[in-house]
Amino acid sequence: MRRREGGRSARAGRGGAGIDPTPVAVLGATGAVGQRFVALLDGHPWFRVAALCASDRSAGRPYAEAARWCLDVPMPEWARAMEVRSCDPGLPARLAFSGLDAAVAGEIETRFAASGYAVVSNARNHRMDPKVPLLVPEVNHRHLDLIAAQRRRFPRGGFIVTNPNCSTVGLVMAVAPIHVAFGVRRIVVATLQAVSGAGYPGVAALDILDNVIPHIDGEEEKIEAESRKILGAAGRPAAIPVSAHCHRVHVSDGHTVAISVRTARPATPAAAIAILRGWRSPLAALGLPSLPERPLVVRDEPDRPQPRHDRMAGGGMTVSVGRIRRCPVLGLKMVALVHNTIRGAAGLAILNAELLRAKGLLG
Ligand code: NAP
Repeated sequence: MRRREGGRSARAGRGGAGIDPTPVAVLGATGAVGQRFVALLDGHPWFRVAALCASDRSAGRPYAEAARWCLDVPMPEWARAMEVRSCDPGLPARLAFSGLDAAVAGEIETRFAASGYAVVSNARNHRMDPKVPLLVPEVNHRHLDLIAAQRRRFPRGGFIVTNPNCSTVGLVMAVAPIHVAFGVRRIVVATLQAVSGAGYPGVAALDILDNVIPHIDGEEEKIEAESRKILGAAGRPAAIPVSAHCHRVHVSDGHTVAISVRTARPATPAAAIAILRGWRSPLAALGLPSLPERPLVVRDEPDRPQPRHDRMAGGGMTVSVGRIRRCPVLGLKMVALVHNTIRGAAGLAILNAELLRAKGLLG
């Protein structure tokens, strides 16, 4: 990421320098994703945290007491004494980031959008709504056009933008350049997902220690549907069959995604490596503070990417791809690694919000 030098802004991009930061609220601020929001928004040049919100269990308590801090960076000083509020509109903010539990996210996010807030959400509830962008901006930033279709639903100017399931982010970042170059026709994907992906307290230690759990409720269906929505045109999912196998593994952060694809035009490993290595973000000129220099890197070593070594590439915003080789069944296979709570959740939501601001969609 460009902006971080000791938590302060290293460089404000176009649309940010010299302009007041947009006040934002974090909904679900006490959870695994919410904590990432708090850490990543510390010193953000375009956004200022005006409210931290969670359930009634946390409301009224100082954030330092309500949140069981799980990150390996310290809790920002400004957040410690901030009183946690309940998730009710009427906050001094224009934008609400959501890291809410899916059991409550749908209704709360709709209420915020109806009250005029821009809602940028990690939860699954609105992702497959045909009028809601499901955004990995380097891949489908044009889907932002869907926001106009929400005007009738939210006449006070609010709207909802979502980001996909964390494994889907790694999958589509690796596959989209191949799709553009060779036309992807089929995808088979197997994930090895970190425990932080289950939130806090998440999976019981006695279930996951020394173990692999070959089931994550609803995850395979999410990956299969969401990747088609992202790889297609706005409102028209790509006609690419996707088959996903999901596993929870004994890793703290970082989802590994093993991918096989069939392409319409022949894609040798060497040609695929050249395409992935030459790929550059279409958003580079916007100067978005959370956009890494290289959103995608290709590793040559035969045993990379690995979660422990590669999840923090680009401050956690870079997807690492390696082991690009011939697949005897579908043609081409590779392994991608994505930091699930940064590029796969809070970091991506912040990047999406930066794009909204750069495009003047935050008013
Ligand atoms: P989590 O650790 O369980 O946190 C859930 C948050 O929701 C907490 O702040 C909690 O507040 C709040 N909440 C629960 N019930 C509420 C209610 N009735 N009213 C208001 N707030 C309530 O979950 P997480 O892992 O951070 O995930 C958050 C969302 O992001 C989920 O929808 C998840 O599917 C999605 N997501 C997660 C990841 C990941 O890697 N973890 C990646 C992508 C997307 P209290 O502390 O007060 O209970």
